[in-house]
Amino acid sequence: MPLDVPGATHLHSGKVRDLYSLETGHLLMVASDRISAYDFGLSPGIPDKGEILTRMSLWWFEQLQDVVPNHVVSTDVPERVRDRAVVVERLDMFPVECVVRGYLTGSGLTDYHAAGEVCGVPLPDGLVDGSRLPTPIFTPATKAQMGDHDENISFEQMVEAVGAPVAERLRDLTLQVYSRAERIARSKGIILADTKLEFGARADGTIVLGDEVLTPDSSRFWPADEWQPGRAQSSYDKQFLRDWLTSPDSGWDRHGQDPPPSLPAEVVQRTRERYVQAYEQLTGESF
Ligand code: ATP
Ligand code: MG
Repeated sequence: MPLDVPGATHLHSGKVRDLYSLETGHLLMVASDRISAYDFGLSPGIPDKGEILTRMSLWWFEQLQDVVPNHVVSTDVPERVRDRAVVVERLDMFPVECVVRGYLTGSGLTDYHAAGEVCGVPLPDGLVDGSRLPTPIFTPATKAQMGDHDENISFEQMVEAVGAPVAERLRDLTLQVYSRAERIARSKGIILADTKLEFGARADGTIVLGDEVLTPDSSRFWPADEWQPGRAQSSYDKQFLRDWLTSPDSGWDRHGQDPPPSLPAEVVQRTRERYVQAYEQLTGESF
């Protein structure tokens, strides 16, 4: 259940975040401590996760300021959601997830195995799970309804949805954001394998970067020194959790009917440490 926030009207709850409208016309975006894996919401949540991801997203918006304007208005938020919420401009969001991949894995790898291309972008033969792509590629997806998976689409389908000028602008901006972010992450020993951005428009038509940016919930971060193409890479965020869920210790059958069991304290603790580590390694700040 979303929190009752004084002065704010609840609009929407996603898997992780709750969105409210404010009397000023702005929106309040609150990141909870909820965590999901294998499409199940898990309990309990991960203490401080919402705050860590909010701080990380704000840090990235600042790094990207000269690449693209963003929706952040202020971090002055109601006490109830202090440190894990931001006030943002209400944008008219484009109905596309702007995905960029510098490395091949996940649904990109699945599409590559099936057709040798991802979203209509042909790729060379011989790539494996975790391969670095010759050049980063833009692989848009539709925004799925609650409970559904996003679906990869071709650039032409994106043009049909938003028109050619906007589609081209969003593609260019997405690739520019990736190029900047990938370079920054690499300098901290982190590979930014891929990420998903969401853009919207102001009333005057200006394109603005919205949603959360470059968090472990919207991106794949891999420790650079452990990168080894040809196998699943260990990731910063949910690796420990996924490993536990699929180990005999959890007693859970991933392909069965039952939801996962609740997380033992140690798994919660170790997962929290991973989020903190990702934040600290990236920003150089201590949490
Ligand atoms: P999930 O991400 O869990 O699959 P979801 O996308 O519906 O589901 P959230 O990501 O928590 O849930 O919700 C954030 C919603 O707010 C998204 O629909 C996103 O497009 C929208 N949004 C983000 N920034 C803005 C903004 N500045 N103005 C208007 N809507 C925004
Ligand atoms: Mg979302």
